[in-house]
Amino acid sequence: MSDSISDKLYTIRYKCDDVSHLIIKERDHCLKCVKKDCNYFCPSDVYDWDKKQKLTTVAYENCIECGTCRIACPYDNIDWVYPKGGYGITYKYG
Ligand code: SF4
Ligand code: SF4
Repeated sequence: MSDSISDKLYTIRYKCDDVSHLIIKERDHCLKCVKKDCNYFCPSDVYDWDKKQKLTTVAYENCIECGTCRIACPYDNIDWVYPKGGYGITYKYG
């Protein structure tokens, strides 16, 4: 029996809203942010730095609602709320 993170993530089911519950507040902060920390701390790879457009993309559909980005962005630049009722993740136990 395997218990890798990718195996655990596979047991999560999503119901996606068509509106993001994760908002980047200020694009300018991301331009100044040297390490682009969000590209590394999110376990679901929600954030990615688009070098061409010079902005942080947000694949909110993949969010597992761990809350890390609420506290880990060095610029406090991510507006984080839970998805609206009925949307988001459900965990499958057992
Ligand atoms: S860590 Fe915060 S400021 Fe830095 S790129 Fe990500 S959202 Fe922008
Ligand atoms: S709450 Fe967790 S999974 Fe969702 S975007 Fe933030 S760090 Fe990623």
